[in-house]
Amino acid sequence: MLKPKRLIASIEHNPEWPTLIFFCCIHGNEKAGYIALESFFEHIHNFPEQLKGNLYGIFGNQEAYLQEFRFLDKDLNRIWTKSHLEESSRKDNVSEYHDLTEIYNVLYDILKRSKSEVYCIDLHTTSGPTKPFIVMNDALINRRFVRNLGYPVIFNVESFIEGALLNLLNDLGHVSLAFEGGEHYSKDSVKELKIFCYKTLYHTGIISAEALIDMGISEKYFKSKPAKYFEMIFRQDLKPEDNFKMCGNYLNFQKLEKGERIATLNNQSIYAPKNFRIFMPLYQKKGEDGFFYIKRINRFKLKVARVFRNLQAENLLTFIPGIKKLNFYTLSISKPLLKFIPKRLMFALGYRKSIEIDGENICFTKQERKLKNLPKLSSFVSPYQNLTKT
Ligand SMILES: [Zn+2]
Repeated sequence: MLKPKRLIASIEHNPEWPTLIFFCCIHGNEKAGYIALESFFEHIHNFPEQLKGNLYGIFGNQEAYLQEFRFLDKDLNRIWTKSHLEESSRKDNVSEYHDLTEIYNVLYDILKRSKSEVYCIDLHTTSGPTKPFIVMNDALINRRFVRNLGYPVIFNVESFIEGALLNLLNDLGHVSLAFEGGEHYSKDSVKELKIFCYKTLYHTGIISAEALIDMGISEKYFKSKPAKYFEMIFRQDLKPEDNFKMCGNYLNFQKLEKGERIATLNNQSIYAPKNFRIFMPLYQKKGEDGFFYIKRINRFKLKVARVFRNLQAENLLTFIPGIKKLNFYTLSISKPLLKFIPKRLMFALGYRKSIEIDGENICFTKQERKLKNLPKLSSFVSPYQNLTKT
C-alpha cells in the first residue's frame, strides 16, 4: 500500500469565493472516506467551470492507515490542543505528532489564502453499523448549515471530547462538522460519504442544482430535508488498561430501557440509568470512548435558544453579583453561585466549556467565539512549495 499524499486534492479558483475543506482518515482505519473523496474529486475535476469555490482534500493519519489501525500512539482526533501542538514540534516519538504538524501547516496555508466563508467537513465511519449522522459543536453557524441536510445531528460532543480537530476549526469561526457515513468496511458507507460531499458542495453555494444535475448527480441526493437534533448526555471513558465489552449488538440511536444491562467494564456491569438512546457503542479494540448516551432535543427549544443567543441574553445574568462578563465570549461565575445556575440554561445561551480560572471562579466560553487567526507553528513549511496540482 502506498502512503497517501497529505493534500490529496485541491481546486483553487478565487479567494473571494467560499472554501470547502474535506478531511479523511483522521482515524487511520476509516478508509471509506478516502475512497469516497478520491472518487468525488476525480469526478468534479472534470467540471471546473461549474465550481464557484475553492476545494481541498486533506488526508489524516498516514502511518495508522498503512497499518490499518485507528491510531498508533495517540488518537489524531484528540490532540488538537495547545499543549499537544507545542509538544509536537519537540517530540518525535509520537507518530501522530507528525500528522498533526503537517495538517496544521496545510490548514494554515489554506486559511491564509481564503477571503470568504470556510466550511470544514471531517469524514468518518463507525465500528458498528449505523445510519449516517452529523456530529458538531453547537455554534449557530453550524446549526444554520445542517438545518436542511436531512441527517440526525448530535450536539454537545465538545463537552465530552477534548482536542478534536473540529473544536479548533470551530474556534476559528468556521462551519465545521464531522460526518459519519456508516460502518467502516461497508460499501454503503463510501456511497453515503460521497453523497454527503455533493450535498455540501450544493449547500455551501459552490455549485447550482442545475450544474449538479448536468454532472449526472440525482436531484434526490441534494434535496433539502429537515434535520433531527440530539444532545450528548454522557460519555463512557476508557483507559488503555480497561477491559470493556458491549453486551449484545446495539445499533446506533437504539432506545434503551431504564436499568438495561448494556456493557461490562472490568467485570462490572453497566446499566442504563434512564431511557436514553445509545450512541457509538464500541465494537473494536482501540478507542477511548466505550459508548455515549444521547437524548432528542425538540426544535422549539432550539428556536428559543437561538433567539436568546442572538439577543445576548447572558448580559442579564451579569446583574447577579458573582457573575461577570470578561469579554464578548467569556462569562465568569463564582463557584458557590454555580449550583443555582442550571447547566441547561448555560447551554441554551450557547456557553459550554467550563474552565477553572482560579480557586473561586469558573469560566464559561461561548460557542460563537472567534480566535483571530491560526497562529503559525514554528516548524512551518508551506505544502505548496512542491505541489503539483492534481
Ligand atoms: Zn473516526
